[in-house]
Amino acid sequence: MKPSVQTRTSRSILTKGSGFLHGYSHTLNPYAGCAFGCSYCYVRRMPIALFREEDWGEWVDIKENAVELVKKEIPKARKKGKVSIFMSSSTDPYQPVEYNTGLTRGLLEAMVEEPPDFLFLQTRSPLVSRDIDLLKVLGSRVMVSLTIETDLDSVRKIFAPSAPPIAARLNALKELRREGIPSQAAIAPLLPCSEEFPDKLSDVTNRITLDDFFMGDGSGGNRTEQLGIRKLFEENGLSDWYDRSTYLKIKKRLEKTFADDAIYISQKGFFPPDQL
Ligand code: SF4
Repeated sequence: MKPSVQTRTSRSILTKGSGFLHGYSHTLNPYAGCAFGCSYCYVRRMPIALFREEDWGEWVDIKENAVELVKKEIPKARKKGKVSIFMSSSTDPYQPVEYNTGLTRGLLEAMVEEPPDFLFLQTRSPLVSRDIDLLKVLGSRVMVSLTIETDLDSVRKIFAPSAPPIAARLNALKELRREGIPSQAAIAPLLPCSEEFPDKLSDVTNRITLDDFFMGDGSGGNRTEQLGIRKLFEENGLSDWYDRSTYLKIKKRLEKTFADDAIYISQKGFFPPDQL
């Protein structure tokens, strides 16, 4: 189902980093809502989703003045200290509508002019590779984190049927590495995967962050329980995977392919470099 898309103007665009993202001075969400509608998305339990009539995944608001705001707010924030931005915490900055709006691209153009100290770009979309030219200019001030929760598209279709296919994400990550853009695969949240997953990842990236429903949902797994994710595992004969220790088995597999210092666990993999 195509999400309903609206435009709105915002009063501000940089939000103070807090909670899981306390290492960042700010978060930046160019859109509200998310067309990918992942079943496990913790934003489903937040006021922004709960107070909306449409279901999560069925609506996207475009913050049409985001570029104008960021041009004013970055210099202002810099007067108070380092500016490290996490984009995005409650949407994906590469919504399908971004192909037409170029809003996130506009933000990157603005950041090339007024660079933050650090930008963490978190997405599930291969569209990020469109902006390699701008990411190159940002150089070591940027890290692109592409979520690849599993290598099995059949599993992706169970948990996040509207999110981009895995093969396209792997290709995008490979392109980012080839172009010298600092990047990682975020296995977050870990979903059932094949034995070959580490090899497929080593073909496209040098850095991995591994997170799961129990460490990464900000509530020790309670939010994930409330979202009924356990049932999805059970209904699909995947119950063995829904366990606090599963990530350790996958970590062991990854360690056969990646060096220890290339594997980050949970929150650490999303920190800015000066917080490591
Ligand atoms: S892409 Fe991110 S913000 Fe969008 S539904 Fe999935 S987890 Fe939530």
